[in-house]
Amino acid sequence: MANKCKMCGICCKLFLINLNEKEYKSGRYKTMFEEFEVVKDFSEVKKYGINLLAQKEDGSCIYLLNNSCKIHKSRPQVCREFFCTSKNKKYKKMQEIINSGKIN
Ligand code: SF4
Ligand code: SF4
Repeated sequence: MANKCKMCGICCKLFLINLNEKEYKSGRYKTMFEEFEVVKDFSEVKKYGINLLAQKEDGSCIYLLNNSCKIHKSRPQVCREFFCTSKNKKYKKMQEIINSGKIN
């Protein structure tokens, strides 16, 4: 099946989203640890998960609204790359979690 997204929002409820260096340093995304100043050394940022997008209390992404992405046009790179229909093996585990049907 070709990469295709139905925009159901399920993956936005299940996974932590890592910002890349440029996204993190842009300061335009809400992160889990906003009380931190922007940390310059990105290896430190990744080590401590400072670049993770903030989540709501239910664990879904802070930018998910009514199962849609509020920042769709400027969503992080990892969100652009992931498709639950992808053949890429690196997504196998995530696809299994989605297909387990625990969220709908
Ligand atoms: S990638 Fe798949 S699970 Fe994620 S929003 Fe699109 S259709 Fe839903
Ligand atoms: S930024 Fe948008 S696409 Fe990415 S997880 Fe959050 S709601 Fe989903």
